[in-house]
Amino acid sequence: METANQVRQLIQTRIDAGQLPQAKNYEIFGRQGDGLRCACCDDPITGQQIEYDLEFCSDMGAAATLPMHTVCYRAWCEISYAIQCRERSASPSRR
Ligand SMILES: [Zn+2]
Repeated sequence: METANQVRQLIQTRIDAGQLPQAKNYEIFGRQGDGLRCACCDDPITGQQIEYDLEFCSDMGAAATLPMHTVCYRAWCEISYAIQCRERSASPSRR
């Protein structure tokens, strides 16, 4: 089990590497965990935990579903929004 800081670092690395999508264009469903591995920290989501299923709508048609722990989901949202804010302020609009 990773600490909260390790999980955040892992999420940051995976978003940078394109292994995790950023927090946009998705729907979220909550349910009881059934042992699937979390897309953020790789730990299984047990029956005692809530699993969030994130369904991403891609332009290609195929929807990808990622299971996440609730705490991992929150960390992923924060990190992803921070990246999106940075990108917006870094790219000057020329319109
Ligand atoms: Zn997790």
